[in-house]
Amino acid sequence: MSLRPDLYVSTRGQAPVADFAEALLRGMAPDGGLYMPQAWPRLSPDAARPGRAYAEIAAEVLTPFIGDALPDGALDAAIGRLVAGFDHPATTPLVEVEDGLYVLELFHGPTAAFKDLAMQLAASLADAALAASGERLTLLTATSGDTGAAAVAAFAGAERIRLIVLHPLDRVSPVQRKQMTTVAADNVLNLAVRGDFDDCQRLVKALLGQESLRAQGRLSSVNSINWARLAGQIPYYVSAASQLGGRAATWVVPTGNFGDAFAGIAAAKMGLPANGFVAAVNSNDALARAINDGLYERRGAVETGSVSMDVQAPSNFERLVFEASGRDAAATRAVFETFARDSRVRLDDDLLAALRAEVTAVSVDEAATRTEIAHAHAQWSRVVCPHTAVALSAARRIDRSNGPVVALSTAHPSKFGGFVSGVLGIAPEPVPVVRALGDRPERMTVIDPTEAAALDAVRAFSA
Ligand SMILES: *Cc1c(COP(=O)(O)O)cnc(C)c1O
Repeated sequence: MSLRPDLYVSTRGQAPVADFAEALLRGMAPDGGLYMPQAWPRLSPDAARPGRAYAEIAAEVLTPFIGDALPDGALDAAIGRLVAGFDHPATTPLVEVEDGLYVLELFHGPTAAFKDLAMQLAASLADAALAASGERLTLLTATSGDTGAAAVAAFAGAERIRLIVLHPLDRVSPVQRKQMTTVAADNVLNLAVRGDFDDCQRLVKALLGQESLRAQGRLSSVNSINWARLAGQIPYYVSAASQLGGRAATWVVPTGNFGDAFAGIAAAKMGLPANGFVAAVNSNDALARAINDGLYERRGAVETGSVSMDVQAPSNFERLVFEASGRDAAATRAVFETFARDSRVRLDDDLLAALRAEVTAVSVDEAATRTEIAHAHAQWSRVVCPHTAVALSAARRIDRSNGPVVALSTAHPSKFGGFVSGVLGIAPEPVPVVRALGDRPERMTVIDPTEAAALDAVRAFSA
């Protein structure tokens, strides 16, 4: 039996094989693992040829992962909608800020953060999959800001999908809140929870377990473990390589749940020219401690300026462990079951060596993040968001004599204007999509952080 890139296995090895549509609509595999393609497809030798359009690259990257799981034309339509929603002709332009150091701008989309790139595709493809099967889908997601905004922009108006987003009341930035609450589409419900992000996550988990909510159709989540979201992030690495003229780079990725970084590693498995990957985390450094010290351990969350990276247990780390262990599902299951039980797990030496061959990890604290924002402004007249600053701080430490270094820029600074102006003393110029939010009316339902309150609100939402 030959292994196929359009069939998906679970990292925990106890779920039936799924096709792309099933992996997309389910999110998590039924055994609690994450879906991975059975095999990595190979990019064509000229995939990163200079001058290729983003749409062309995305079609080449994604076609083998989908196979015949979606109706003809669904992928092309999804890619067309994606690039039309970006306000830059290169979609993800690569900018050289100084000799050999590049910034990959991933924020030219509808919500000015990189999550648009995959979320837009996932929404179109999910709608196409549901149209083919005649099903309906309710999506639940907890957000600390960017995921919810990108999901609302992507799924608003989708015919067969309703989206319910839970955010912590008064704990997302005003721009992020408005991006979620000013959308008029009837298939979107915003719940503002009197609590924190962990309360939102707990409620989503509880709602996903409510069998009664499945009476109306499928019930799933759009968080970053969804394979479609991961796959949708691979094309911008290939696009950047094309903009580099096919030269191999060191890729530095500001990291929270490790979805963005893992997409780069996936691209390398497919043939992307790469000299290595660096995951740059903030003071929430569980990933860096795991890779550098060999102990993967959950600690209390620290609030930082790079809020979208305030993650205690990066969900896509499981994909990396699966891959680094030689796709040993039993070993992967043992690591993450131990972690779930004990909040810590020691990684054995072989696994650790294999993990270190895939990625290095650096933690950048708040002081260094602020310094980096000031440096980018003083040296390059660039205003960068705190997440981008974390990546740049790590990127500037890397020797460029072996090839270019690319720092991924995941959000426009005006989404995090408060933090940036706290450093620079000036507010970042808003991008048009942020300026357009203006004083549009907002819609959200404020609830107590209880399962009963969440369930009532969802039942009252009749879309
Ligand atoms: C989500 C997010 C990240 C982290 O990406 P992961 O895939 O979770 O590692 C970084 N920067 C911004 C602006 C984000 O919204």
